[in-house]
Amino acid sequence: MWRFKYVGLLIFCLGAISLFNQGCQHGFSARLLTAADVQHSDSENNAKVSTRNTYQYYVPDPNRPELQPLRTIRVNVHFMNSVDGTKNYGPDQAPEFGQKLIDGANDQLRKNQKMWLPLGNETPVLFPNYQLKLASSEGYEREGGIYCHHDDNLFFFVSTGRNRNHYSRDVIKEYGIGLDSILNLFVMPHHPDSIKSESYNVTTSGIALGTGVKLSGIFENGKQAYSSRGLVNHEIGHVLGLNHSWSGNDGCEDTPRHRNCWNLSKDGPCATEASNNLMDYNAKQHAWTPCQIGKIHAGFAREGSKSRKLLVKDWCTKRVGQTVIVTVDETWSGAKDLSGDIVVKTGARLQINNRVSLPADGKISVEPGAELIVGPVKLHNACGYTWQGIEVLRKGKESGSVSFIGQPIFENTSEEFVKGISSKGF
Ligand SMILES: [Zn+2]
Repeated sequence: MWRFKYVGLLIFCLGAISLFNQGCQHGFSARLLTAADVQHSDSENNAKVSTRNTYQYYVPDPNRPELQPLRTIRVNVHFMNSVDGTKNYGPDQAPEFGQKLIDGANDQLRKNQKMWLPLGNETPVLFPNYQLKLASSEGYEREGGIYCHHDDNLFFFVSTGRNRNHYSRDVIKEYGIGLDSILNLFVMPHHPDSIKSESYNVTTSGIALGTGVKLSGIFENGKQAYSSRGLVNHEIGHVLGLNHSWSGNDGCEDTPRHRNCWNLSKDGPCATEASNNLMDYNAKQHAWTPCQIGKIHAGFAREGSKSRKLLVKDWCTKRVGQTVIVTVDETWSGAKDLSGDIVVKTGARLQINNRVSLPADGKISVEPGAELIVGPVKLHNACGYTWQGIEVLRKGKESGSVSFIGQPIFENTSEEFVKGISSKGF
């Protein structure tokens, strides 16, 4: 029992002698949770805990950025060229063009626009809360995530006809670098023979295949890299789990079906039915809806998912200004990767109904008169580092209250915490 173990460590805290051993915080004494402190709820409450990954639980709250920190996706860019080097940007221009391609996509993400559809909608405009970052792989540090390849057999993209290869993954398999942790963009010219044919449509288009994306027409159209920002974000949208929104059911109620007009027109159906959504084929592709954003972040939060593997792991350790302060009653139904401690303030109740990752050396503090309820979910450090566990704060006779619904799973906690909550065969 902790009381006997720490009997010699009496601490003077704001004039009061305390048996609590972890120190003083704002006039409180603190110690790690033990099995004796925990209340257990019945199975009726257990049924109320839903851990289903519904998209709405992952829509970022702009007022609580610490609850869902910005996600950063690692990307690299490959410029596929003929052996004679005439069909794409070469080593002199590719690094700058590739960087501008990524900068343009990030800029568009930061400037998310209001949806045109449905007419008169009040769909909120939220920051999608993710950005792209060029990433090097081990052994390729000099390239800085921009690669030039010369291969007469694999440099080209053919979208229609007998020789179409847009669904082929050959170029990704041959030249992909770090596909398990980096999103690989391939800038590919159309085949010279296709371009010569009058019936072939030399478009700017793309296709997402696993963690690889093939982009065509970017070199041939001669435009600034910025003009391809919608295409880049659209294809990455597919990699992150989004579907086209005009055709079938994309799982989102805020992306209505429509005629897939290219742009607004003065009259006719496209005067009222044009879309500007990212996942339609249109001239703008600059609007992400809350559901689409939630869907992307649900994928980021799902352990082992394709999109989670692409993220910079910036949730492993503590970051300044990321402490999560809970001041009113809250229920967390979506999984979280936090970069700061959690403090449940006096008078507030926090119920955790899904996985939460705490940073290394992080902890959950429950103030006197505050309540923490943990469902049968995992609390851990998603990078395998040790976090402290749950601490209960006390002032006078009042202390924080902790209850478990079912059997929470604590991973990567300090040995002291494990010992404490195990002391009664918990
Ligand atoms: Zn598409």
